[in-house]
Amino acid sequence: MKTIGIIVPCYNEAAVLPMFYKEATAVMDALADRYKTEFIFVDDGSKDETLRRITELAVTDARVKYISFSRNFGKEAAMLAGMEYAVKHDYVCIIDADLQHSPEIIPQMLDYVENEGYDVAASRRADRQGEEKFKSFLSGSFYKVINRISETKISDSAQDFRVMKRDVVKAILSMPEHNRFSKGIFSWVGFNVKWISHENRERAAGETKWSLKGLLKYAIDGILGFTFAPLKLPFLFSGLLFVLSFIELLYGVIKNIAVEGYAPSLPLTLAAVFFTGCLLLLCVGILGEYLARTYTEAVNRPKYIIAKTNTNTTYFTLEGE
Ligand code: UDP
Ligand code: MG
Repeated sequence: MKTIGIIVPCYNEAAVLPMFYKEATAVMDALADRYKTEFIFVDDGSKDETLRRITELAVTDARVKYISFSRNFGKEAAMLAGMEYAVKHDYVCIIDADLQHSPEIIPQMLDYVENEGYDVAASRRADRQGEEKFKSFLSGSFYKVINRISETKISDSAQDFRVMKRDVVKAILSMPEHNRFSKGIFSWVGFNVKWISHENRERAAGETKWSLKGLLKYAIDGILGFTFAPLKLPFLFSGLLFVLSFIELLYGVIKNIAVEGYAPSLPLTLAAVFFTGCLLLLCVGILGEYLARTYTEAVNRPKYIIAKTNTNTTYFTLEGE
């Protein structure tokens, strides 16, 4: 019998957890003759009753494992912790707790990886219905930009909801970066992916954790983590300014000869100085962003800290300990 680990990142999901558990267990119970299931709820430093709900479930259901972080480390860290634990399984599934990802598709995903020769079966949203227009527009533009400038292709509609073979999870875990942008990571490791269209369901309860600021940070992380294209801007700007200054020089010299008493206008000169200053600061800022990321990689802090768990993973033990 094959085993599957279902990873559920949870941040303040107390309201929806019982519903999720009911739906997900119903789906997996129907497959009980073929797959041995383990649920790995990763409590990402929730401030509500999430952890209590999970521990209650764990008391009555031995399939329920939990890993609870010491604070909120973000969904990327939660998925990572889940995968580090669940890599022992033949298959690993990642699914949101809020029922926007329908557990009913898991059997179909399992069928693709087990019988159809795929390594991953991932959900792709069929539409962006129920999402704010502005948010759709922003994310649409982000994916257009990143796909133009990055070699790692990132699909606009790809979701984290997926079933993966163990080898794929191993490949993902072999990527040691701290700034984890899962969409890029999933795409970067490659493998044979079956995309399954999935209607975007309404959140069953609770509320989204994404603020506009959070999304913007996510977008910047994606760009900086998967392309060096912004570092080419200084070259572009220097070329542009060189051409402009050359034209200006020619114009000044000719006018000086032709017009008696000619003096260049001060406001125009100032504008040129400020413009150049802006471009320079922008370039320094971009450099700084990459440098800061190099710094986080260099200090090599743990990617999360486990405060409580019923798994055999104890804290972030160093290898071999
Ligand atoms: N999540 C998490 N840590 C966070 C934010 C979110 O573990 O810091 C979880 C959340 O509990 C949910 C999933 O990630 O299971 C997706 O979050 P959400 O539904 O807020 O995102 P959306 O579906 O609106 O993109
Ligand atoms: Mg959601």
